[in-house]
Amino acid sequence: MGVDLPAAVLFDRDGTLVKDVPYNTDPARVEPMPGARAALDRLRAASVPVGVVTNQSGIAKGLITPAQLDAVNRRVEDLLGPFAIWAVCPHDDGDGCPCRKPAPGLILRAAAVLGIAPRDCVLIGDIARDTRAAHAAGARGILVPTPETLPAEVTSATEVAADLPLAVEMALTPRPTPAPPTCPPCPDRKTATGHPSRPPMTATLGPPPSPDEHDLAGRHPCADAAAVLDRPRFPDEQGFAGHSPSPCAEDIPDVVDPVTGRAEPGSRRRAVRAEASRRRTAFRSSRSPGHA
Ligand SMILES: [Mg+2]
Ligand SMILES: [Zn+2]
Repeated sequence: MGVDLPAAVLFDRDGTLVKDVPYNTDPARVEPMPGARAALDRLRAASVPVGVVTNQSGIAKGLITPAQLDAVNRRVEDLLGPFAIWAVCPHDDGDGCPCRKPAPGLILRAAAVLGIAPRDCVLIGDIARDTRAAHAAGARGILVPTPETLPAEVTSATEVAADLPLAVEMALTPRPTPAPPTCPPCPDRKTATGHPSRPPMTATLGPPPSPDEHDLAGRHPCADAAAVLDRPRFPDEQGFAGHSPSPCAEDIPDVVDPVTGRAEPGSRRRAVRAEASRRRTAFRSSRSPGHA
C-alpha cells in the first residue's frame, strides 16, 4: 500500500452505497447507488479496506427489528461486499449515544476494530452528519450529494465529489492542505511569519526580535510605532473571526517629501525602527531595578 493511501475508506449506507429507502425492512428493495460497485472494487484493488458506518434509528423507533436490519445488511453485503467492518448505530437523536453520526463513535469503533488511526480513515457520505462525524473523529470526510442533500450541506462541505468513483479517486489522493485563513491572528513575529499577502515582517524589520521587544502588555513595538504615527486603521484590520490584528510596519506609509511630493524610500522602515528603539530604551529605563 502506498504511503499516501488511506488506511480505510468507510461508507455511509443509505443514500451513499444504496438508494435511501427510509427505514427499509425489505432486502428486495436494496439497490446500489450508481458507481458503488466500481468505487468499492477500485479500493479493493488498491488493498484499501472498506467498511460501512450507518445510523439506523429505525431500531430505536421500533420501525425495524434487529433481524430485519440484519437481513437488509446481508443483502448489501451480497451486492457490494465484502466489507471489512460494519459499524451500526441503533439509537436515535434523543438517546445521547456516542455513535449516532454526527458523533464520531462509529468511525472510532471501525478504526479500533481495523487497528488503524481514525485520522487515517476517509468517510464518504451523502449528508453533513457524515462529514461532521468524520471530522469529529479526526478523519477525512467527502460528501457525495444526492437530490436529498441540502444546498447548505454541499456549500459547507470541505470536500465534495459528484459520484462515488470520483469520491474514491479523491480519497486515494493525499488530503488537501487547508487554505490559509483570509486574515490570520495578529502577526506577532515571535510566533508567526506575518500576513500571507505580505512579505514576512522580519523582511521589513531586520533581525529577529529579542524577547524584550515585547513590553509588559505583550504588545509588539511595531504596533506601538504605528500608534505613534497616528495612522488611521485600515478597513481590512477588522479581520478574521472578529480578530483585529495590530497594525504593523507593512501598513505604515512611506514619509512623503512635502516639497517633491514623492515618497522617501526606506523612510517607513526607519521611522518604525527608530520609534521601536526609542520605546525600548524608554521602557527599560522606566523599569525598577528589581525587574532588570
Ligand atoms: Mg445517508
Ligand atoms: Zn448510537
